[in-house]
Amino acid sequence: MRRGVIGSDVGRALEIVRNGGLVGLPTETVYGLAADASQKTAIAKIFSVKGRPNNHPLIVHVSSLDVARTWSSQWTYSAEILGSTYWPGPLSVIVQKSSIVLDEVTGGHQTVAVRVPGHELALELLQQFKGGLAAPSANKFGKVSPTTAQHVLDDLGDDVDYILDGGPCRVGVESTIVDCSLEVPVVLRPGGITAEAIESIVALDNVDSGISRAPGMLLAHYAPLCEVVLVENMQQAQGSLGDANSKYRILDASIDPTSFASAMYSLLRQCDLDGIQKLFVVLPEPIGIGLAIRDRLTKAAHGSKNQSR
Ligand code: AMP
Ligand code: MG
Repeated sequence: MRRGVIGSDVGRALEIVRNGGLVGLPTETVYGLAADASQKTAIAKIFSVKGRPNNHPLIVHVSSLDVARTWSSQWTYSAEILGSTYWPGPLSVIVQKSSIVLDEVTGGHQTVAVRVPGHELALELLQQFKGGLAAPSANKFGKVSPTTAQHVLDDLGDDVDYILDGGPCRVGVESTIVDCSLEVPVVLRPGGITAEAIESIVALDNVDSGISRAPGMLLAHYAPLCEVVLVENMQQAQGSLGDANSKYRILDASIDPTSFASAMYSLLRQCDLDGIQKLFVVLPEPIGIGLAIRDRLTKAAHGSKNQSR
């Protein structure tokens, strides 16, 4: 009989990743689908379980800045200062890969993304494991990310060997990605560490683009089943209701963007569970965590428009 798939047994998670299995990994951003980054067959399982295209590179999670350096052949000043300031935390840096990094992890690129997650259970597992865990979000490709252990089970069921339950994710949106392999670093994806916080310690190129330019980043992603309509204020939401034949809901992300980010994916999932057809979201200002919320919801809106319901 299959033992309980959700639990807090780090020893069991360790045994599974060492044996090439998949573990649902709690982090402060979203739950990851983690596998040993040095085992080709384990990495292949991540792609097949998620239905993720092979050329979408994975982020390697490690326990410390010291370990992170070993994954790069050219650890840059910007990677060093950002890592030493914001790790453990919701920030991934892209650097030239070292020879230990599998092509399967980087999608064939010469660069690799690494981060030290800010979650006690994840760190405990990584410290005991010592190596790197490749971990994209633990959901089917293109769908809403998971922020609880139950979300992971709902999405992946038996395809994940064990889910470490670390409670609901604190930040709730994926890590900020900074390309530190360039002379002047660029934010490729906004996230929990704000562009303002990064710019306070390193000069950035294109800081306010908020547009994801990393390979594997698509216009449509993070999509619930319901249609997502983005509005700038409540009046616009009310005005867009039309004859409101469909079952709708209005969420306001502008009042407290930090709390909204942390609850966002749960709220999107709840809309689908409640049979909502049209979700209106009042967007936060495009500053701080508001940039990450706008980025994810814009993609969710594209994804929901393009899928058959
Ligand atoms: P996630 O989809 O949240 O797992 O984050 C992974 C994303 O990080 C990928 O889809 C890429 O956009 C980005 N990324 C990871 N590795 C690299 C890399 N070597 N070069 C550029 N972007 C990367
Ligand atoms: Mg994802």
